[in-house]
Amino acid sequence: MNYQIQLLIDGQWRDAGDAQWLDIVNPADEGVIGKVAKASMADLDDALASSRSGFTAWRKSSAMERSAFLRKAAALVRKHAEEMAVMLVHEQGKRLVEARVEVSGASEVLEWFAEEARRVYGSVIAPRSPELRQYVLHEPVGPVAAFTPWNFPINQAVRKIAAALAAGCSIIVKGSEETPVALARFVALLTEAGLPAGVINLVFGVPAEISQHLIASPVIRKISFTGSTAVGKLLSAQAGAEMKRVSMELGGHAPAIICDDADLPRAVKLLAVQKFWNAGQACISPSRFLVQSAIYDESVAAFQRLAESYATGNGLEKSTRMGPLANPRRVAAMQALVDDALAKGARLVTGGVTPHGKGYFYPATVLADVPRDARVFNEEPFGPIAAFARFDTDEQVLEEANRLPWGLAAYVFTSSALRAETFKSQVESGLVGINSIAMGFPEQPFGGVKDSGYASEGGADALEFYLSTKFVSQAC
Ligand code: NAD
Repeated sequence: MNYQIQLLIDGQWRDAGDAQWLDIVNPADEGVIGKVAKASMADLDDALASSRSGFTAWRKSSAMERSAFLRKAAALVRKHAEEMAVMLVHEQGKRLVEARVEVSGASEVLEWFAEEARRVYGSVIAPRSPELRQYVLHEPVGPVAAFTPWNFPINQAVRKIAAALAAGCSIIVKGSEETPVALARFVALLTEAGLPAGVINLVFGVPAEISQHLIASPVIRKISFTGSTAVGKLLSAQAGAEMKRVSMELGGHAPAIICDDADLPRAVKLLAVQKFWNAGQACISPSRFLVQSAIYDESVAAFQRLAESYATGNGLEKSTRMGPLANPRRVAAMQALVDDALAKGARLVTGGVTPHGKGYFYPATVLADVPRDARVFNEEPFGPIAAFARFDTDEQVLEEANRLPWGLAAYVFTSSALRAETFKSQVESGLVGINSIAMGFPEQPFGGVKDSGYASEGGADALEFYLSTKFVSQAC
């Protein structure tokens, strides 16, 4: 295959102004599968001008029109789902089944926001004088700049795009240069569904140059980013200097607490699914496995059996249970984390060795007896490593769960209602699974606390981050 991914600027697909391109690589075999246009500053200025006029038009559309558009887009995405799923496997490496879930999830997000678009309510406040009328109105915040990563190329983008469009905002999306193919097809379907020129612009290029240029522009009124905490803090600081609103969906380091009264087979089965989905490259992936001493050895052994069933391979092969990592940086990061943990006294239970040959593969890895000072217990692994340590008391494990600066997802497995209540209220985390991993669906809030960011990308709250409040005091 030979994908040629252009920029979408003001309704036209075009090459970069100075004809620069970047290669796109298939992580399963390291072959070049196409190229993506690298935007120049002049291209970005065109996108900004387009986004300004797109906003002027789109904000005048009615909520019913925006809702109808989003429904139509969802149907088109469903119709072309398989094509985009295969693209995701080619460029990102995930298994085809995971790619299908990602694309069907994107349709659901569009449908959710089609409904939410119709539920933007204002209010009337009782006046202090009979000649006054007082209204609270909600309006679209303005043109949005969104920066989306490579782990879920469509799904991380659709949450921002659908919310912005539902609210009446225009949006400039900077997708990941490493995974631009399926996202470009997805955006093309939005334009096919009838989105006017300028309401969405899609650019790729040098991330730092693009974010700096867009955030500094007076056209842009809101920044939304998904990615690492380090970059999120940088963009938040840039946005703060320009007094612009931000939504930040950043990293995590999810504790998975297994208590001695848990249904162990269920806990291990669900946590393995959540750990190795997308080869562990998910911000809600469980990463610190904290197991109560009485069931520790049994838990590690059960998890090892499951981890060893995750055969790696090309995501298009039926026999594959885990695809490659998305880029060579992640493979190097996995090996460095494992080597560091072993040097500090952890025990390698399975995996832990970078295979020879083509492709960015890394095996499902289990580390036991990981000391608290190991890097893997302090840096988000963002890959297929399950690091285990034991605990004795609930106080101890809560302290460990809350020790790190992040707070995105946390998992607790216990059969005690009392313990469930305690963990639910005391874990510092935006998302908590109690005997459950069901999170990330469009109707559920999605966002972190502490260094994991702020604002929610799902549920009934999500639209408010794309709206501003206007108070009107009117004499009559
Ligand atoms: P990175 O931190 O350089 O990049 C993370 C993402 O941010 C990428 O999509 C990148 O294109 C983008 N980015 C980087 N600098 C930027 C800038 N100045 N302006 C705008 N966008 C910018 O590193 P990486 O190797 O791509 O990923 C490593 C880490 O990022 C992972 O370990 C993980 O912690 C985090 N990450 C998190 C998510 C998530 O879903 N929250 C997704 C991808 C990566």
